Amino acid sequence: MTLKVCKFGGTSMADGIAMSAVKKIIESDEKRKFIVVSAPGKRFNGDTKVTDLLYACYDELKEKGECKAAFQSVRKRFESIVKELNIEMDISSVLDETEERLVKENSSDFTASRGEYLSARIMAQLLGAKFIDSEDVVFFKADGQLDGEKTYKAISAAVAGAEKAVFPGFYGKDVKGKVKTFSRGGSDISGAIVARAVNASVYENWTDVSGFLACDPRIVDNPRKIKNLSYKELRELSYMGANVLHSESIFPVRKANIPIVIKNTFRPEDEGTAILPISQYKPDGNVVTGIAGKKNFTVILIEKSHMNSEIGFIRKVLSVLEREGVSIEHIPSGIDTMSVVVDSDEIEGYKLEQIIEGIKNDAEPDVIRVMENVALIATVGHGMSSSIGTSARLFNAMAAANINAKMIDQGSSELNIIVGVKNEDCEKCIAAIYHEFFG
Ligand code: ADP
Ligand code: ASP
Ligand code: MG
Repeated sequence: MTLKVCKFGGTSMADGIAMSAVKKIIESDEKRKFIVVSAPGKRFNGDTKVTDLLYACYDELKEKGECKAAFQSVRKRFESIVKELNIEMDISSVLDETEERLVKENSSDFTASRGEYLSARIMAQLLGAKFIDSEDVVFFKADGQLDGEKTYKAISAAVAGAEKAVFPGFYGKDVKGKVKTFSRGGSDISGAIVARAVNASVYENWTDVSGFLACDPRIVDNPRKIKNLSYKELRELSYMGANVLHSESIFPVRKANIPIVIKNTFRPEDEGTAILPISQYKPDGNVVTGIAGKKNFTVILIEKSHMNSEIGFIRKVLSVLEREGVSIEHIPSGIDTMSVVVDSDEIEGYKLEQIIEGIKNDAEPDVIRVMENVALIATVGHGMSSSIGTSARLFNAMAAANINAKMIDQGSSELNIIVGVKNEDCEKCIAAIYHEFFG
C-alpha cells in the first residue's frame, strides 16, 4: 500500500479544536499512517508559542537551578489541551516527570524539545497510535549533521508492525547521547526524514495556509498560490525567508524523489502546493514563481585596480573569512570590484574588524567599505531563463517604488535574481516586484 507521512505544524497543534481537526484529517485517509508533530503554536495574535515558553524556562533554569514559575505556563497549555480533547491521559504526571528531567538535563536543546515531545504524546493518545520518541530514532553525527543511514534504519525498525505512529518533530540525539534540536522550524525536516525512512509516496506538510504563496501573505494581501514548485525553487525561496517550509526539508526527500505537498489543516479540501523533482514539475507559465526576502546581511565591498588579472586575489579575500569561520552567502563581482555578503549574525562583535584587518593585510585592496543592515530579496523561477527583459522589469518596478538596489547577483542557473536593499525597504521591494509580475 502507498503510504503518506503527515507533518502538522504549530497552529495545527495549538489547542483541542485544532488537534481534533488533525485527527479528522488523519482518519479520513488510511494511507496517513505516520505522523510528525510540532509543539503547540499561537492560538491568536499576540499568543506565545510553547517552544518560546520553553526557551524562557531554560532562562529561568540557568539563573535559579529550577524553572517552576516559567514551566507553569507550559503546564497550563498542555492541561487545557487534554481537557478540551476529553481523553484519558494523566497529563499531570507526564508534566511532573518532564519538569524533573528538565532540571536534570539542564540544556537549552532538551528544554526546547519538550513542546514536541508532549504534543506527540497527546496526539498518540488521541489517535490510539504508537508513540515513537525521536531521541531513540533520529541521530546526529559529531559534526552536527544528520546521521542519515543510522536514522533511516532505526525509524524503519521502530515502525515495523505499527498500524499508526506519532513522532515528535524538531529533535534527535547527538553522539554524546544528549537531545539536540534542529534550527527553528525544524519539525519540517523531521517530517522529511520520516518520509524518507518509510519510503512514503508523499510527504504532506499541514500548516495554516493553503499552499506555498508567491510571496509572504503578511506583506501582500492574498498573494497568488503556487500550484507546483521544483525542489530547487523551494530551496531558493525558503532559504531566502519563505519560512512556510524549512529550507533543509528537501534534502531527505529529494534523493528518493518523494513529493512534498503543502496543505491547510483548516481548509483541507483546498488543493495546496506540490513540490516536485524537476522531471515531474509542470510550469504554470509564469515568468516568476515566487519572491522572498530576508533582512540583516552585511556587505563587504572591495575594490582593486587590475583585480581581474591578479591571480589568487579572490582566494586571499575568502581565506580571511574561512580563517574566521564565517560562511559566505553571495560573492557578486565586477572587473575591479567584488563584494562579499554575509549574515550579520555571523560577524557580531569584533569579528567584522578582524575580517577587515585581515583583508587589508592579506589582499591589499585599494578600497574596502562595509554596508550593514542590508536585506536580500530573491526573485525565483525556472521561467526566467527563457524570458527576455525580466531583470529590466524587476529594476523598473524597484525604481518606480523609489528603492535603490545596493547589490545585484544573478545566479548562473538563471533561476534567481537577488538584489540587496536597505532593511527598511525589504517589504516595499517584495510588494513592488510581486505587483510587477503578478499584477
Ligand atoms: P507551521 O507552524 O505550520 O510550521 P509556519 O508558521 O512555520 O507554520 O509557516 C506558515 C506561515 O508561513 C504562514 O502562516 C505564513 O504567514 C508564512 N509564510 C511566509 N512566506 C510564505 C509563503 N511564501 N507562502 C505561504 N506562507 C508563507
Ligand atoms: N517548535 C519548533 C519551533 O517553534 C519547531 C517547529 O515548529 O518546527 O521552531
Ligand atoms: Mg514551520
